[in-house]
Amino acid sequence: MSTIWVLGAGQLGAMLHDAAAALDLDVRPIDIESDQQLEIKEADIVTAEREQWPETLVTRQLSANSNFVNKAIFGRLADRLTQKQILDDLNIATSPWRAVEDSTRAEDLYTALGDKVLLKRRTGGYDGRGQHWLSADQNDEIPEGWHNACIAEQKIPFEDEVSVVGVRNAEGEKVFYPLSLNLHVNGILMGTLAPVKRNAAHQAQGENMLGTLMDSLDYVGVMAMECFRVGNDLMVNEVAPRVHNSGHWSLTGSEISQFEYHLRAVANLPTPAAVTIGPSAMVNLIGTDYVEAWRSVPGADVYWYNKEVRAGRKVGHINFCDSDSIQLEASLRTLEKLLPENYSEVIDWLVDNLS
Ligand code: ATP
Ligand code: MG
Repeated sequence: MSTIWVLGAGQLGAMLHDAAAALDLDVRPIDIESDQQLEIKEADIVTAEREQWPETLVTRQLSANSNFVNKAIFGRLADRLTQKQILDDLNIATSPWRAVEDSTRAEDLYTALGDKVLLKRRTGGYDGRGQHWLSADQNDEIPEGWHNACIAEQKIPFEDEVSVVGVRNAEGEKVFYPLSLNLHVNGILMGTLAPVKRNAAHQAQGENMLGTLMDSLDYVGVMAMECFRVGNDLMVNEVAPRVHNSGHWSLTGSEISQFEYHLRAVANLPTPAAVTIGPSAMVNLIGTDYVEAWRSVPGADVYWYNKEVRAGRKVGHINFCDSDSIQLEASLRTLEKLLPENYSEVIDWLVDNLS
């Protein structure tokens, strides 16, 4: 049996590993800092739980394998500049942007994009880190060290943040989940609902956008596309060539989770359309200590990542899937009492958007 090596051993790698049992696959997440000598066989497959990585002893070994699925794509999507160029070339709507070069002045950005401009580091940003707002009213300048290291984006007055998560296999067949409706607070995903009625009208548009991108890259596996919704239009915020936090609800709410789909695609197993079991809600656990009582909340499917708890760090998530919205709401309210105060906003948002 060939092994599927996963570059990276965070929670995404762990969930890929857990999904392997149902498929009888041997999946091995590898910590990028590990000093292991890996015994990679010629027929083995390599995938990644992250879009970029430093050169280390193991990343060099994994990169050398000829079956590293999507290998050439990671670098192009991990850099926001090339990612934006790819989207523009494909005519996929994305938030208006400008490159920030040596000669670029804040003034140019205000003229091109408006009074509020968001600088985003080209690489390495996540969970809202690596971002810097510029405001014309304050005469803000581009900070030291950001030239050539970021792109500039227009501030989008979005009504919703949604994401499209889908899988494409080597034959080019694609399957998409119902769009996720996402709540971000300070740049971090806090909650997701899927499926949501008001997203249905945007499903085809979202599938078309992500499908176009995956086809053009000849991508194999799960990809996620975070979008803003303004009126009836979706606009790409960013794309991740991997399983994604906004798809975690699928562990509970879909017959085939995003992790299982990803493995199926990279291992060349069938990727049939999955049945969505019912309306799902996901609460992300950010920088909060483990609470045993979460597991006593009716319907709560608790995923704890066993990471050291630090402020702002993703340490777990809790899924619910229930077609009885009254029961789902009651469970979310029970959970609210077991979470820090700042979660009231998240639970309110989930409850308000359930129906
Ligand atoms: P992730 O952890 O998902 O990789 P990130 O830190 O890389 O996130 P983005 O997804 O680009 O960064 O931005 C984080 C959040 O900041 C978005 O979900 C959105 O709420 C807000 N945001 C990003 N870009 C814009 C924009 N152009 N206008 C308004 N809000 C924005
Ligand atoms: Mg994001």
